[in-house]
Amino acid sequence: MRLLSLFTSQAAVNSALIATTLFVSSTSAQDRTTEQGEAQITDPNQECTPYYYQPVSAAIAANEFPPIWTVATIVSSDTNAQAKYQSIQSQIPNIPPKGTQPASLMGDFSNFTPTYPSSDPDCWWTFDQCTTPKLAGLPPDLAVVPEPDTLGYGFDDGPNCSHNVFYNFLSQNNQKATMFYIGSNVMDWPLEAQRALADGHEICVHTWSHRYMTALTNDEVFAEFYYTMESIKLVTGVTPTCWRPPFGDVDDRVRAIAHALGLRTIIWKYDSNDWRAGTGNVTSANVDQNYEDLITRAQNGTFATAGTIMLTHELNNFTMSEAVKFYAQLKAAFKYIVPMGVATNQTQPYVETTYSLPSFEQYISGTTTISSGVPLPTDGSSSSTGSGSSSGSSSSGTSSGSSSTGTASRASSDGLGMLAAGAAFVGFAMKLLA
Ligand SMILES: [Zn+2]
Repeated sequence: MRLLSLFTSQAAVNSALIATTLFVSSTSAQDRTTEQGEAQITDPNQECTPYYYQPVSAAIAANEFPPIWTVATIVSSDTNAQAKYQSIQSQIPNIPPKGTQPASLMGDFSNFTPTYPSSDPDCWWTFDQCTTPKLAGLPPDLAVVPEPDTLGYGFDDGPNCSHNVFYNFLSQNNQKATMFYIGSNVMDWPLEAQRALADGHEICVHTWSHRYMTALTNDEVFAEFYYTMESIKLVTGVTPTCWRPPFGDVDDRVRAIAHALGLRTIIWKYDSNDWRAGTGNVTSANVDQNYEDLITRAQNGTFATAGTIMLTHELNNFTMSEAVKFYAQLKAAFKYIVPMGVATNQTQPYVETTYSLPSFEQYISGTTTISSGVPLPTDGSSSSTGSGSSSGSSSSGTSSGSSSTGTASRASSDGLGMLAAGAAFVGFAMKLLA
């Protein structure tokens, strides 16, 4: 039986620390209008100071997205989303939401402990880690990778505003990974999201507000997917075809909605528990041990017939540092470390067919990138005066240049967003414990 446990996470603390940086006026001379310029900043305080990005501001001003860091709902004026939602109704099974979303916005699954049927009719991963759906027509979750001695390499919860040193490390090692992005983070940090594509990583969906998906209603589940896909499309130009459920919380209803939107479900086999370090009784030494256990298994031939996937994060400095710390050992223990899409030969990882990933064979032969030159949407900062950001909206933006008013405006809205993010990340702390 599982127990529900609530505790304050290190993630929440870190988010709060990040939030405190939001109100520091930027004195940076860096170029914060392009992916290339943003990627050159390595001071975390500067990286995490909000900036103005016209396409996102314009989309928010036009009410094209739900509020960030709240459970997504279909925007009332969004006829495209409404039509899409109506078109998939017949594909959604009649499975009720499993919990509720109380004021804390965390799923309440207490009525399922210990009464959830052992036959588990809905293939609820959270309950029994089921990865082969019982509903006809749904593909199995990707929980391991087919290639022997191969690690499917990916990181959840980005784009993290302070990820440049980590992404630099990956680039220096010509290592590509799958980045599972939260839509609200994409809206907050669009140039950081662009960097994933520019660096040749694969981008998948990690929902809009990072909630327990089985606790949401059908339209909320839809909106969590839909607007994350739209946000990634808005800032990178591509639409993902894969997703990972926050907390691994998925059942056949959520899978069916994902499948109807063209999203493959990617889960994991091992959990580094990096996201929990400093919480409860999980220590950094425990996370080290989890990495070391995986490395030992790889050395012992555990993955001689099929590779595996471990849950790791770009959530904070610790989780990214752990990835760097153990990279060389993983590289030595596994024959190959590749993005999920490469491991499964998803050479067309996006809806837009202009972008291709290498096949597994191409990747291991040294061709780690097929397309990295997708034209990114322009910042359009020269037209920022038309964005609706007025100098009267804030008194904190005193730095020079035409972008300062926009920056101030972003700081104002993102301040709320990141504070909400801090609250949201408290949600990370609630975990169904085995
Ligand atoms: Zn996550």
